[in-house]
Amino acid sequence: MTAAQPQQRRHTRIVATLGPATDPPEVLEAVLRAGVDVVRLNFSHGDPSAQVARGEAVRAMAAKLGREVGILADLPGPKIRVETFADGKVQLKAGNRFDLVARLGVPPGDATQVGVSYLELPGDVVAGDVLLLDDGIVQLQVTAVEGERIVTTILNDCVLSNRKGLNKQGGGLSLGAITEKDRELIVIAAGMQVDFIAVSFCRNAEDMHEARRVARAHGCNAALVAKIERAEAIENLTEIVDASDVVMVARGDLGVEIGDAELPGLQKKIIRESVAREKVVITATQMLQSMVDSPIPTRAEVLDVANAVIDGTDAVMLSQESAAGSWPVKAVEAMARICMGAEKQFEADTDFEQAKRGLARADQAIAMATMFLCEHVGVRAVVAMTESGGTARYLSRFRSAVPIYAFSHHAAARRKMALMRDVFAMDYDSRGQTPREAARGSIRLLVEAGLLNPGDRVVFTSGEHMETKGATNTLRLLEIGADGCATGLGEL
Ligand code: PGA
Ligand code: MN
Repeated sequence: MTAAQPQQRRHTRIVATLGPATDPPEVLEAVLRAGVDVVRLNFSHGDPSAQVARGEAVRAMAAKLGREVGILADLPGPKIRVETFADGKVQLKAGNRFDLVARLGVPPGDATQVGVSYLELPGDVVAGDVLLLDDGIVQLQVTAVEGERIVTTILNDCVLSNRKGLNKQGGGLSLGAITEKDRELIVIAAGMQVDFIAVSFCRNAEDMHEARRVARAHGCNAALVAKIERAEAIENLTEIVDASDVVMVARGDLGVEIGDAELPGLQKKIIRESVAREKVVITATQMLQSMVDSPIPTRAEVLDVANAVIDGTDAVMLSQESAAGSWPVKAVEAMARICMGAEKQFEADTDFEQAKRGLARADQAIAMATMFLCEHVGVRAVVAMTESGGTARYLSRFRSAVPIYAFSHHAAARRKMALMRDVFAMDYDSRGQTPREAARGSIRLLVEAGLLNPGDRVVFTSGEHMETKGATNTLRLLEIGADGCATGLGEL
């Protein structure tokens, strides 16, 4: 039996936001087939029940396709929004006065004023501050604060419409990250058994701890995603990364608060810091924005996605492009294609900078040694028995580009691994097997699937005691025998 050379597979993960554009079942099927690894349900928009229905549709479709697809519930967080206008929107003229009124029950707005739902806002701003609305399209400068009324001067001619978001340039709004609404949504997310919960506008580690406490109290074991989109979060980046499982470079709001010119450097810093601290990282927002209306991306967008891959991100994300655009399937296809092209340009860190930081745990040390072998003895794949996905995460932090086949019989662990670069999670029940039997069984599956061939070297990692979380302490270098099956597996 001579198997074909393994075909190139995409190692960078794709997150796609679901919305009206992906609701038709045939579109959902097509986007999943095109390679979506994790779907995002954005609880900032629409009725929560619509997101719950989308989650159910994804689970059913993934089962039909025999795919593992993670679900990420994105909490709205304390996004400050203006209330509504009598006519839905207003034309604002540069130089005119426009007031924001922080009170409940303000009548619908007009060209002179509008209500704001965040009642503490007048205490958080002073004359001279610039407020940015609708992702910076509308710019207002505060001239005075009179009780509940913030008096501003309009800085640019623009249109402002219902419920647009509001940020303060430079950050510094005092509101906490986990709102009452978020708590209710965490309970809904727990009921859906989502795989990831994203905390919007987190400020510090405590915000992440709080979200985790609420989730765990409701029996939800989801991984916690910190969205870095506030100036304060940059100041507290290290502690936030340590308090989270996944980090998102949320470029939309972050760019508004800190200025777009700072974004490229920060994206690289957040990715570097997350990977170095053993966390998974998503790069998000406007990656293929023009594909909301166009079937092909701009060259600049191609370069943006590719550069995120070269920066070392685990995943790239689609927002409006998939949720509300005209070309959701083509957007996923474009991302998949660009990621694979960029992976060829990616230069792995062969200096093992990480290892110099000191390895606190046995499974981290095994992961380091494994990746060192991959680099120095020519290994086709890593095969890891992993209970919770922890070993896969440590292995994939080295970004060696060698595929990591991670075997777990826990579907929830496999769905969490769907977000990790270089990791291919597979179902395998090693209960009752010795590590040697598990190696033979799992590697046989890979040979049968055409993913490994006779003569290939692999590193196999497991714990002495199987089915124990965090117990990986063994590494074996194996070579696949000429007959291509497990019995031919000879140890070097
Ligand atoms: P959002 O978050 O899409 O929920 O606003 C991402 C971002 O701000 O970039
Ligand atoms: Mn945001």
